[in-house]
Amino acid sequence: MDQKEKAIIFLYPVFKQMIWGGERLGTDWPYEIPGPGTGECWAVSAHPNGDCVVREGTYAGKTLSQLWEAEPALFGNFESDENSKPDRFPLLTKIIDAKNDLSIQVHPDDTYAKAHEKGSLGKTECWYILDCDSDATLVVGHNAKDKDELTAMIKEGRWSEFIREVPVKKGDFIQIDPGTVHAIKGGIMLLETQQNSDITYRVYDYDRLSDGKPRQLHVEQSIDVITVPAKSAAEAVKDAADLPKDKMNLLISCPYYKVWKLNVAEGISFAQEHPFLIMSVIAGEGQINGLPIHKGDHFILPCGYGKIALQGQMEIIAASI
Ligand code: ZN
Repeated sequence: MDQKEKAIIFLYPVFKQMIWGGERLGTDWPYEIPGPGTGECWAVSAHPNGDCVVREGTYAGKTLSQLWEAEPALFGNFESDENSKPDRFPLLTKIIDAKNDLSIQVHPDDTYAKAHEKGSLGKTECWYILDCDSDATLVVGHNAKDKDELTAMIKEGRWSEFIREVPVKKGDFIQIDPGTVHAIKGGIMLLETQQNSDITYRVYDYDRLSDGKPRQLHVEQSIDVITVPAKSAAEAVKDAADLPKDKMNLLISCPYYKVWKLNVAEGISFAQEHPFLIMSVIAGEGQINGLPIHKGDHFILPCGYGKIALQGQMEIIAASI
């Protein structure tokens, strides 16, 4: 591969208006949003519902899914074993601005999704809290001690007993394994790294109406897939605000992704040795190999990119498989 093809892949995000969305992606972030109620920025996505376009360079104008199909060598050395190449770009990075509460939901694992959702993948996701109100909470887990109690609480609508809300603050990191009951509450902005999949079972929607009707719930599937008992709240939420500077701090390594936090202060340089490395600048500004980058930029360092030098004052969330 020549040097030109190893260029950094900068992407244009895709925006989604949601009933629960706000305006902060346009006010606190340097984005031109489609209007009020913009809940999601799909920053690195090859999903058919929001396929990011390359901003500049050799591949300008191509979508990430087109690059994945046409230039697999950018994303890993799959040539020696064609079967090792995932059938789609495996990750999806979003920024979420929740002005209001999202519904309470759970995702299946790969095995359940394969059997019950026409061969789909399950979904594992994780959240880094970018900003939130001082009294912010998230729903992570539940209070049922066994499957019988879980079934009773859900069927009888005992939501205040069932739902476990945990306090969160800026810089917290939360891994949401399949089977984890979860919901983002109003007043939170977060960066989500997830498997590129969309199978969601809605457990409860606060009895809200959308166009005069309640949104569909998936009670039986939810009872099937929810893990009982839930992981403890202390295990679920990790403080990642003040990690060592100028190093890749690993936040999670699971079968689907690895996620790191970088606090660039003096500068850091290392070799890009992952199949590919996604970077999202979440605060500050600086340079990568001399190119200016700032809060709101998202890019992919391709396979075999080589040495990376980051300078400036910035915070970055990085992800790979
Ligand atoms: Zn989810």
